[in-house]
Amino acid sequence: MDTETVQRVTTRVERGIVLWTTRREEIKRLSADVYSVPSCTNDGRYTVNTDLRFCTCPDHARAKAQGARCKHVHAALLCKAHRRELREIAKAERAKG
Ligand SMILES: [Zn+2]
Repeated sequence: MDTETVQRVTTRVERGIVLWTTRREEIKRLSADVYSVPSCTNDGRYTVNTDLRFCTCPDHARAKAQGARCKHVHAALLCKAHRRELREIAKAERAKG
């Protein structure tokens, strides 16, 4: 992977982190692999499939062509990882009794 690709991926990962950090409550889980993520530029929402790393936003195709993923995919992946972590903590708490 060349330096420019790494930079493009990193930039979108960082934007995804900011999106998840600042608008977490607005990210909705529709099913195990499907999330609805708010747009940062308008009132719309985009649908992300975390399994396929697919998003309905205009940046998706451009990002994909550059070997990257849009920020919505990264935000949804963070949301999913966060849910999983909370679930595992809850499970451990229950096991403790
Ligand atoms: Zn997107």
